[in-house]
Amino acid sequence: MEYESSAGEEVPALGFGTWQMDVQTARESVESALETGYRHIDTAQAYNNEAGVARGIENAAVDREAVFLTTKVHPRHRSAGDIVASVKGSLTRMGLDRVDLLLIHWPNPLANLEAVVNGLNEARERGLTRHIGVSNFGVDRLDRARKLSEAPIFTNQVLFHPWYPQRELLRYCQDEDVLLTAYSPLATGEALDDDVLRDAGRGYGKSPAQVALRWAVQHENVMTIPRSTSRQHIAENFDIFDFKLSRAEHDRITRPSKLKTGLSIVKSQLG
Ligand code: NAP
Repeated sequence: MEYESSAGEEVPALGFGTWQMDVQTARESVESALETGYRHIDTAQAYNNEAGVARGIENAAVDREAVFLTTKVHPRHRSAGDIVASVKGSLTRMGLDRVDLLLIHWPNPLANLEAVVNGLNEARERGLTRHIGVSNFGVDRLDRARKLSEAPIFTNQVLFHPWYPQRELLRYCQDEDVLLTAYSPLATGEALDDDVLRDAGRGYGKSPAQVALRWAVQHENVMTIPRSTSRQHIAENFDIFDFKLSRAEHDRITRPSKLKTGLSIVKSQLG
């Protein structure tokens, strides 16, 4: 495992995503991920599976303290009071006293950013989370959130894959020492039959999925959270720390494409 650090805390650079998993699937997949060695798990109020994620942690023979657990506040919660109440709801569903990281899931155009940031900070001050952060924020909004926040903004969780490399945001995060958490690192499946990824992996005996994940974590300040419900894929995705892409391979894999990015988003929405 490799680690990224922020606010004096080391976090496994490879985590585990749980979007589109029902409670039962989340329980089984999280348990399987923890047994494989993952120690960083991502859920959200909007996924309606926080209870399953927590049961998966409980069932695995792993100390809760050894797991870095993130949940995300649904952006319909706009006032500090609503945000704190919603986090208490998450914790009740999970049977936990606190999470490790609490994010606002996406910017709500009707919300006042200061109120949202205050809500995240209040949740932290009350001990409901150890760290706070944001998701789906562009550079300007991230910068404003950081200025408004008392606690450090630990991460910005955003779409990040070879066709959406977030160059401007990544540079900001690296310059300002904010972690970037890469979601949909497999472009929700689009990366799996990509010839450039397959060619790059051939010499290392690695699959396109493994190369895409390696590409993500090789960026400074980047962590990633692939999702899988398959025991075999969960293990495969974990096996990315025994090879390194060369500079030339890394550059060849990075191919910004709005078309490919859009296709992957549409396909993921169609299920
Ligand atoms: P992803 O991780 O890019 O791709 C998941 C898909 O790839 C699944 O269909 C999975 O199927 C397949 N897969 C995974 N490993 C594979 C392998 N080794 N070989 C073949 N197929 C493989 O997609 P994602 O769920 O969009 O993103 C990951 C996580 O990021 C989410 O689960 C969520 O936690 C987070 N996320 C956050 C936001 C946000 O707004 N903050 C948005 C999207 C996602 P199998 O189950 O069959 O393996």
